[in-house]
Amino acid sequence: MACYSLIMDELSKRYQAVRERITQAALRAGRTPESVQLLVVSKTFGSEQVAHVAALGQRNFGENYVQEGVDKIVALTGVPGLVWHCIGPLQSNKTRLVAEHVDWVHSVDRLKIAQRLSEQRPAHLPPLQVCLQVNIDGGPTKAGVPPADALALAQAVAALPRLQLRGLMTIPEPADTFDAQLAVHQQAKHLFDELKAALALPHVDTLSMGMSADLEAAVQAGSTLVRVGTAVFGAR
Ligand SMILES: *Cc1c(COP(=O)(O)O)cnc(C)c1O
Repeated sequence: MACYSLIMDELSKRYQAVRERITQAALRAGRTPESVQLLVVSKTFGSEQVAHVAALGQRNFGENYVQEGVDKIVALTGVPGLVWHCIGPLQSNKTRLVAEHVDWVHSVDRLKIAQRLSEQRPAHLPPLQVCLQVNIDGGPTKAGVPPADALALAQAVAALPRLQLRGLMTIPEPADTFDAQLAVHQQAKHLFDELKAALALPHVDTLSMGMSADLEAAVQAGSTLVRVGTAVFGAR
């Protein structure tokens, strides 16, 4: 029990500190704290630790590796109201597992994957909520649709029957200064605004950007959802 309380204390402190960072960043940006959602990234941590954070009131969790994520989803079916997000690279042979188990996918970057997810989404579940991953800073080896192709992909994805397009996701290269982080996040915000104007779909409301090291700059630029792992769970 002593050990359990220690872990809970530590996780609780870190979790509240992250919430406070988001609140302060939002207020500095002239935004309401509620306009920024927290997605806690639980990759490499066990379902017990996820349960600890869920006990603090957290509902949205993100996983990178499909099988690891599904194992945790199954282990935690007894915890009501959890919302699971797939944020890692997606191969064709993993789309069925994802379509059958998760609520959101942030890492759709090609139509073929989106089509498979739509075909494989079970009829008894709500539409899969989808963000398109954009390679916002143009890294040659990085996942993500090039910004110039994002609108065409968004239009095709929005037409798929079992997916609901929610917005964009980015993973910029780490940058040292706030201003450098902000500059890239602002490019993503600009693209997101263009996309929203062109699509005019009310449910396109999510800009998934910002992690432990750059969430303040992401919130300043207009992120609506930050994905935070290390700052909650510690180093992986
Ligand atoms: C691991 C990961 C995160 C969380 O990163 P931290 O630096 O640990 O906060 C966010 N998004 C994606 C896509 C990740 O893979």
